Amino acid sequence: RAKQEGRNTYRLYSMQLDAHEHRWLAMETALRNAIDSGEGLSLHYQPLFACGSTQQLISMEALARWHHPELGHVSPVDFIALAERSGLILPLSQCLMTMVAAQLRHWIDAGLSPVPVAVNLSAQQFWQHDLIVQIRTLYEKYQLPAGLLSFELTESMLLDKQQQAIKVLQELRQLGCQVAMDDFGTGYSSLSYLHQLPITTLKIDRSFIQQLGENEGSEAILAAITGMANGLKLTVVAEGVETQAQLEALQKHHVDLIQGYLTGRPTPADDFAALYLIK
Ligand code: C2E
Ligand code: MG
Ligand code: MG
Ligand code: MG
Repeated sequence: RAKQEGRNTYRLYSMQLDAHEHRWLAMETALRNAIDSGEGLSLHYQPLFACGSTQQLISMEALARWHHPELGHVSPVDFIALAERSGLILPLSQCLMTMVAAQLRHWIDAGLSPVPVAVNLSAQQFWQHDLIVQIRTLYEKYQLPAGLLSFELTESMLLDKQQQAIKVLQELRQLGCQVAMDDFGTGYSSLSYLHQLPITTLKIDRSFIQQLGENEGSEAILAAITGMANGLKLTVVAEGVETQAQLEALQKHHVDLIQGYLTGRPTPADDFAALYLIK
């Protein structure tokens, strides 16, 4: 009887695995097709505003979106992870970065003055030997003014490869690109390490911003981060700002820029232009 159950359990388990694997493979095939055809893949743009009283538009972040007729909207957290595991991340990243450059060119041709767009880099993309060549090629192909593209990376991408990372970051800076450390505070964030990296910007992770006003420790952490960033001459961005109370705490601690649902959600390109870009 026990043996029987064991066998049944095993069968059930292996069936679930199959279903899971099947879904995974179906998603991989669908993503591959989306990359090849460009269908269903798009970018939303979220505004970053000055935190002070002017609340001027300073830049925007490009956020990938994928809609599939059967799978529906797939979160970028999921499809980026899928792409990373299945060898699709490089073609996907190339496709997204090209879409950003083409969009900037489109806006400029329409007489608009786009602010810089931040592109999220995946680890494999960051470590490609020809990343800099790819970016330079995009600048040339789309005739973009220097500084219109900027990049976001995470600490985990740079682990154990600090010296090589410094080299890549310097090359990005030489292209005139701003470079932000994304999700700051969630990685291992050694301060001595941070100060050796030629980055321009720290984006404080949403999890810290959401705790503002909820516990006193969170404001102490914010003060420590802004104090340190000030000393290192880094621009500080607060991610995921949702409430007026959070905004006030951020203003009090002299955060430079805010990004979040309070001031603007990720928005399709045309809507973004109509809402935020000036002629
Ligand atoms: P991220 O780079 O940290 O992007 C910020 C995320 O926070 C976005 O989620 C954005 O929609 C969300 N967000 C912004 N403001 C608020 C707010 O006030 N409240 C809340 N709850 N959320 C807010 P999204 O678009 O789902 O993207 C998730 C992650 O997927 C990104 O995190 C980034 O790591 C990755 N990702 C998105 N697009 C790309 C891409 O083109 N390439 C790569 N490599 N990764 C991407
Ligand atoms: Mg980001
Ligand atoms: Mg982030
Ligand atoms: Mg993130």
